[in-house]
Amino acid sequence: MSKKLIVANWKMHFTTGQASLFLQKLAEQVPNYRDVEVVLCPNFIALQSLSLQINHRQFKLGAQNCYDKDEGAFTGEVAASMLRGLVHYVIVGHSERRHIFGETDKTIAQKVQAVLRNQMKPILCIGETKQERVDDETSQVIHEQISAGLANVTSEEISDLVIAYEPVWAVGSDDADSAQDVEKVVSLIRKNIKAMFGNEAAEQVQILYGGSVDGANCGPYIHAAGVDGLLVGGASLKAKSFAAIIYAAHAAVRYNV
Ligand code: PEP
Repeated sequence: MSKKLIVANWKMHFTTGQASLFLQKLAEQVPNYRDVEVVLCPNFIALQSLSLQINHRQFKLGAQNCYDKDEGAFTGEVAASMLRGLVHYVIVGHSERRHIFGETDKTIAQKVQAVLRNQMKPILCIGETKQERVDDETSQVIHEQISAGLANVTSEEISDLVIAYEPVWAVGSDDADSAQDVEKVVSLIRKNIKAMFGNEAAEQVQILYGGSVDGANCGPYIHAAGVDGLLVGGASLKAKSFAAIIYAAHAAVRYNV
């Protein structure tokens, strides 16, 4: 089993001071595992100070969003180019961005491009709503979100890309998808990547699961076939629970348990 990727999406939680205290607490609880890459995604204004505080071998930083233009009259936005050098990853197309802020596949594709252009790794979030799952439309939604979101990506760029499968209904709901269903969708994602970019790309692309994962239920997702790691929201705000997830990822790689 190769290295796991565990990403914390802190959403709009923690002031800069609270983020700093939390990082201190987490750093005490999490050894520097070489087989797990841990990425913390705080709000934009906490990024600078956390970047000075963080042990960069222990944790990487990510942003929760970005704008696709490199500069200009776009009040309130933060360009991918401004995040360059500060973060390694940028979450793009999170379901809260799609459904609360009306982001479309087209704008999401432009953000993916901007992140890659600025030498960071996009974490492209995809996933179906409850109604789409009930109507048996998951395959179609996944296909559409991948083909639109990765429209201008090249096969060479795929090794810098992370896809997070996050069924919308499982995010922040205490209603995690089953590990068996996650495996099926992840295999579907790889088939889509293979059709667009070829075999090697389908093997290389990193795929995460996200949706109500915590320290107690993370095991089956970490071990699920084809799943390279987890995107964690609520449980990443609790040091003990998040540390348990990181340990479980380490144990899966190191001891296969
Ligand atoms: C998320 O915000 O991406 C997420 C997976 O949230 P939660 O873990 O709270 O469901």
